[in-house]
Amino acid sequence: MKGNTHLLLTGITLTSLYLSFTYVYKNADLSYLLSILKINIFEFSIYQIIVFIMVMLGSILPDSDVKDNNSKIFHSIFMPIAWLYRIIDIIFSFIQGQTRRHRGVLHSPYGTILANLCLFGPILVLVYYFGFHSWGYIIVAYLSLVIGQFIHIFQDYLYDRFRMLSGIIYLICLTIVLAAIIITK
Ligand SMILES: [Zn+2]
Repeated sequence: MKGNTHLLLTGITLTSLYLSFTYVYKNADLSYLLSILKINIFEFSIYQIIVFIMVMLGSILPDSDVKDNNSKIFHSIFMPIAWLYRIIDIIFSFIQGQTRRHRGVLHSPYGTILANLCLFGPILVLVYYFGFHSWGYIIVAYLSLVIGQFIHIFQDYLYDRFRMLSGIIYLICLTIVLAAIIITK
């Protein structure tokens, strides 16, 4: 599946989930929610921005393993992260004695989690060193990245089986999830 299609489908997913939750909790007291989370409205906005950016990044990051560098991620501001994941892919493939290939290590759940630890490990060290102890942002960023990557793997899975219909089938799955959120409110 092409990078733009991943971005489009993931963008639709985030927007529709956001609208569904806004609809379901439209009468909820936001200040009560913020008091439970122990954050203020500004921090809540930052969390939302982090979730959006990291899920969108995760939705194209697995394609750092393409052979010709022609995937969307290499033509975005996330290009340095794509190169980092390319190096991680080479190292993991070597350790496993496998030939490096597209949809190899970076398209597997364990490879995804290990590669992310290589990215977040140095970030954690820096954060700790500079005394910036906002662990909540880092945990949410990590989980959002994993969710974006798993969405990518699921979209590729559908693409392998249904090709041109994969986008429609993905949107049907999404509609079922949205309906479930709204019905069970
Ligand atoms: Zn892919």
